[in-house]
Amino acid sequence: MIKYKLICKNCDLKFDSWFASSNEYERLKKKKLLNCHKCNSYKVEKTIMAPQLINSKSKTEKKIDLEKYNKVKKTIKDYQKFIKDNFKYVGDNFAYEARSIHYNGKKKSKGIYGNASKEDLKELKEEGIDAQMIPWIDEKKN
Ligand SMILES: [Zn+2]
Repeated sequence: MIKYKLICKNCDLKFDSWFASSNEYERLKKKKLLNCHKCNSYKVEKTIMAPQLINSKSKTEKKIDLEKYNKVKKTIKDYQKFIKDNFKYVGDNFAYEARSIHYNGKKKSKGIYGNASKEDLKELKEEGIDAQMIPWIDEKKN
């Protein structure tokens, strides 16, 4: 939407009017659908004031983003809870523990989770060890 300050050349009345676009203003003017509220004259002109743009779309998008973010955050938290309940936390020893499970055949043991660098994960993958990086929310920061 665009708001124009209009002025009537006949009686000098100034008033604001909303248009869907600047083209709509031209269209209405051409069709003589723009007239002064006071004297009904068609000598209505745009004043040189810069039009104000109302962007209601971005507000809505921001709201959706936040909803999406909260949804994703909840999913991650649920996932974290699942992991905490079902996997053993090994902290920074993740790569070591993952290898010991893989090479010692400790199939019966719980899965593990912990901290690993991208390089660790790459190496583990090359060794045929299934490890995945998941997004993690540090609860202390919340
Ligand atoms: Zn007028």
